[in-house]
Amino acid sequence: MKGKSLVGSKGFQLELRERDLPTPGYNQVLIKIGVCGVCGSDLHLLSHQADLTPLGHEISGKVFQIGRAVSKVKIGDDVVVEDKTYCGRCTACKNGHIELCSDMHDLNGQSGMGEYICVHENMLHIFEGITPEEAAFTEPLAVCVNTYMTAQVPLHGKVVILGIGPLAIMCAALAVHYGASFVACVGSKEGTKRNKIREDAALAAGADTVTYMSCEHYKETLKLRAGGPIDAIIVTSPPSTIKEALDLADYGTRIVPIGLDLGENSKVQIDIDRIIMQKNTIVPFIAEPAGKFPLSLELIRDGVVNVKELITHEIPLEEAAVLKNLFHNDNGVIKVMIKMNKERSIGGMC
Ligand SMILES: [Zn+2]
Ligand SMILES: [Zn+2]
Repeated sequence: MKGKSLVGSKGFQLELRERDLPTPGYNQVLIKIGVCGVCGSDLHLLSHQADLTPLGHEISGKVFQIGRAVSKVKIGDDVVVEDKTYCGRCTACKNGHIELCSDMHDLNGQSGMGEYICVHENMLHIFEGITPEEAAFTEPLAVCVNTYMTAQVPLHGKVVILGIGPLAIMCAALAVHYGASFVACVGSKEGTKRNKIREDAALAAGADTVTYMSCEHYKETLKLRAGGPIDAIIVTSPPSTIKEALDLADYGTRIVPIGLDLGENSKVQIDIDRIIMQKNTIVPFIAEPAGKFPLSLELIRDGVVNVKELITHEIPLEEAAVLKNLFHNDNGVIKVMIKMNKERSIGGMC
């Protein structure tokens, strides 16, 4: 049996490759993928990556075939796939540091944007009561949960989120749910079609205000609106915007960068003197393993984060070439889902 999967490189070069499907080994499971979300990191790869590389890691699907020793799932189960999970056996894992696991299970060079994927059973979580499209948000939401926990926002604290993409909107929803007294999102440029739809989504998720770095005096206005010191700033926007975060920071503000560049623009000069004097803490979050998949599934199921409102486009795998137009031009895009079945249900080419 064969399966198609998508690889890509810079310039939004995409290629649909066909490969022989592996027979799952002892603890492995072959998943028939239904949906895979397009992550910002996929878009960065499609801008910077020299060689064709696998795409997609926000995966939901159905168990298709299982190895002889698999006990966690059975054929036909609806599952989400962790793109990386810890082994639970190495010294770091046993010492309680799963993030430092020395023997992680991963996607092993396979694309989530593809028809099938073969992974270790430990990477799977069964879901029910939500759609496959909603389930595909489990990974990015788990990243947001980790980020928000890293930010250590105090009860009734004030949070500013730089960025207005899916991660920023989900972080805003978490901040509201976990009792922040002030939540603001900051986009890059006012007036674009893309940012307008994202602004509406951030406000619908409970953000108190959305402003833009392109607006004159936005920092002063934001600080006035906050009405007190900002406890945490989550930087989902590109690394260069850490400077904006440091300008916005108050005495003791904690800053959590999660936006990647995957290119030269990840290098930023910052004023260490000022960080020391202002007692700011910069803590990068840990993306892999995201962990918190069970909690994320619960948050989706209970409607704490209304992820389905973020889906603007569903694109069949065979038509993934439309991604270039979708993201290069100013379209009303929040979250794009690649669907492995052929029918287009909503959204599509702009
Ligand atoms: Zn991602
Ligand atoms: Zn380990």
